[in-house]
Amino acid sequence: MKYFIQTYGCQMNYSDSERITTVLEKMGYEKTDGFQDADLILLNTCSVKQKAEDRIYGLGEQFAPLKEQNPNLKIGITGCMIRKESGIRGEVKHEVFDIMPTIDFVFRIKDLMQLPEILHKLHHVGGADDIKNLCSYFHINPTITNLAQVFIPISNGCNNFCSYCIVPYARGREECRDIAEILDEVEKVAKRGAKEINLVGQNVSTYNASDADLHLKESHFAQLLRKIDAVEGVDRIRFYTVHPKDMTNDVINLFGELKSMVPHIHLPLQSGSESVLKRMNRLYTPDRFRELVRKLRSRMPNISISTDIIVGFCGETEKEFMESCNLIRELKIDLIYVSKYSERKGTLAEKTMKDDVPLDAKKERFFRITELMKNISHDYNQQFKGRKVKILVERINKGYADGKIPEFKMARFKADDPKLIGKYVNIKVDKAMEWCLEGEPIPPATL
Ligand code: SAM
Ligand code: SF4
Repeated sequence: MKYFIQTYGCQMNYSDSERITTVLEKMGYEKTDGFQDADLILLNTCSVKQKAEDRIYGLGEQFAPLKEQNPNLKIGITGCMIRKESGIRGEVKHEVFDIMPTIDFVFRIKDLMQLPEILHKLHHVGGADDIKNLCSYFHINPTITNLAQVFIPISNGCNNFCSYCIVPYARGREECRDIAEILDEVEKVAKRGAKEINLVGQNVSTYNASDADLHLKESHFAQLLRKIDAVEGVDRIRFYTVHPKDMTNDVINLFGELKSMVPHIHLPLQSGSESVLKRMNRLYTPDRFRELVRKLRSRMPNISISTDIIVGFCGETEKEFMESCNLIRELKIDLIYVSKYSERKGTLAEKTMKDDVPLDAKKERFFRITELMKNISHDYNQQFKGRKVKILVERINKGYADGKIPEFKMARFKADDPKLIGKYVNIKVDKAMEWCLEGEPIPPATL
């Protein structure tokens, strides 16, 4: 029998799909590349914005003819849309069963160990008996297929309750993985040739943190970074996401000290306005953010800083929006993931504030801040013109090999050999555009 997993949303979901793959393959399912010939379709969903949920509901109609063609087809949903229970239609209640008559089962990602039992009921398949006795889904080894993009979760869930955010409700409270288990996973992928490790968690800076840690010389997260840096073969570490309120000096000091700390950090600002940050319950001020950037630049003057911004949050005035633009300009943030505020049921903002910025104003602010970022990014990228940069090739696409340089910029060169994926290639940059650098490989092509 064949399976197809469609993954939406963040790196955490991509990493979760790699564990789901392991379970399915242990049960004897074989991967296929589309809905059409699958006997099992799994949607690993995101619910950070309403649009992401609506996209899933919109798939319902496509599934009906597929089920007619293949009566054996079973369809399940996991990820952030599934919050309460796991099970098959009729056994558990979930609104997706009402909205999408073609869905057969749902499971919370935390309950991945129950997936073999669910599939046994639906497809009468056996296997993966060892899975059900594991006490955490993190104990399931991921099936990593792209060694150029390895995402390793260090925690799941979040304790922060930013007023707009569904994650603490969707994924529950923060649970951290055992350090030995993380290191074991890093060592395994490094032995297979992975060079860049991306650590994922909603707030990596509070990894294993507790009040009793105040006496510690170094936070548990800083200790984890040191240990990963020491693993043979690892020479780039990135992490997503560190909350600005919890970013500590010991982690900042590792930039410039550890060989694998790249000149890039993703530091989500959300808004440059003190009053909006307060309404968002972010618990830091624009000045705190400025201070973090100043310290990071004192360690690495050319560090590239990417961020997340929400435009049109409840009550955001033109003046407050301009405070975001001004801070971005002042700090020369060169990559912004911009989102239009989307009200999520059950969050503090939904319960206590009005989603009162008209959609047209949200769209207009989205456009203006994106234009601002394009200009900053274009200027930042000019420094690479004529210089040698080292790309970790991620894919071959339309006649180009592309991947990231340490500064998190996409760079590309003309090539069509898939064997380059996962390899380093040096290029001399002759074009520096806002989204991408381009150039010719410097022989030898691979290092
Ligand atoms: N933990 C990260 C942090 O502290 O910023 C963010 C994780 S969140 C899943 C990813 C991004 O989605 C956020 O940074 C935010 O910009 C965006 N986001 C979350 N909730 C949103 C909402 N209700 N409307 C629009 N964007 C939202
Ligand atoms: Fe959501 Fe805030 Fe937690 Fe990030 S830190 S996942 S934005 S609640």
